[in-house]
Amino acid sequence: MPEGHSVHRIANQFQSNFVGSPVTVSSPQGRFAAGAAQLTGHAITDARAVGKQMFLEFDHGLWLRIHLGLYGAWDFTGEIRMDATAAAANGRMGQTNQRGTELDPPTFDVDGENSLSSIGAPRRSRVRMSEQEKEMGLKDFPPEPVGQVRVRLLAETVCADLRGPTACEVLHPAQVVTAMNRLGPDPELENTPEAEERFVSVVCKKTTPIGRLLMDQSVVSGIGNVYRAEMLFRAGLNPHASGKSLSVETARALWQDWAYLLHIGIATGQMMTMDGLEGAGYRRAMRSRADRHWVYKREGLPCRVCGTHIVLEEMSARKLYWCPRCQA
Ligand SMILES: [Zn+2]
Repeated sequence: MPEGHSVHRIANQFQSNFVGSPVTVSSPQGRFAAGAAQLTGHAITDARAVGKQMFLEFDHGLWLRIHLGLYGAWDFTGEIRMDATAAAANGRMGQTNQRGTELDPPTFDVDGENSLSSIGAPRRSRVRMSEQEKEMGLKDFPPEPVGQVRVRLLAETVCADLRGPTACEVLHPAQVVTAMNRLGPDPELENTPEAEERFVSVVCKKTTPIGRLLMDQSVVSGIGNVYRAEMLFRAGLNPHASGKSLSVETARALWQDWAYLLHIGIATGQMMTMDGLEGAGYRRAMRSRADRHWVYKREGLPCRVCGTHIVLEEMSARKLYWCPRCQA
């Protein structure tokens, strides 16, 4: 399932390519025909990711809420402006098991080459964005809808097709507020002391294991299975420790680490969770998941720090990877 960084990247893609443009909205598959009729002909005025959900605002005040879930994906076609990382990777950038970019470690300067604001010239292309990203050949524009396209957003030179989402609905502004309020803070949107406090105060009073709290989208937005496992390892935390048993400092550090990792994920398109890699080591890690994670999908392999075998267990029906020694 796409974790927070993917959804932010998709929202950025909409910001770069759709905001300001009137769009023809349709539902080639038919299941979103009524929603499409409410939106078509209006311009998109905002694109926002909150955790794993995306909200598109239209100029008559209605919003489109999308949750990709396990199978959802967007295909962008046409004259697409891509950010530097997507362009450098030919759009083929993955999260868990795809080849990555070979960029040098990204800088986060506002005007830096790899910053999110540096968008390259439009290129005629077709890019799929879901849990992974890849670029495919484009012949005609707009392309014939292929398969079960729930929503098509068609602007003059760009087209976005959505397939397989878990949620896709038109909302009024008040409903958007309600939907957003149900979500825990997202550090990419608000990395503020207030947001941090909100996270810390909830975590520190729950008896729920921290391994579950991190995945609870009402506690904090955007963390999925990969980031959960990696963050707990980085913090040296036992996934079964209750939220209540953590010190305030530990909870704060988790929030800050999530803000840090999420920002790297958005900038590079990879869930890079190792620090201090340079040169060949960094390029290897960007290309291959096996080289960029501490514990995720490393069950049975020796811990990179202590040599103990990494354990795999189920927690709330999701796979959890951890080192029983480093995270005792
Ligand atoms: Zn270890």
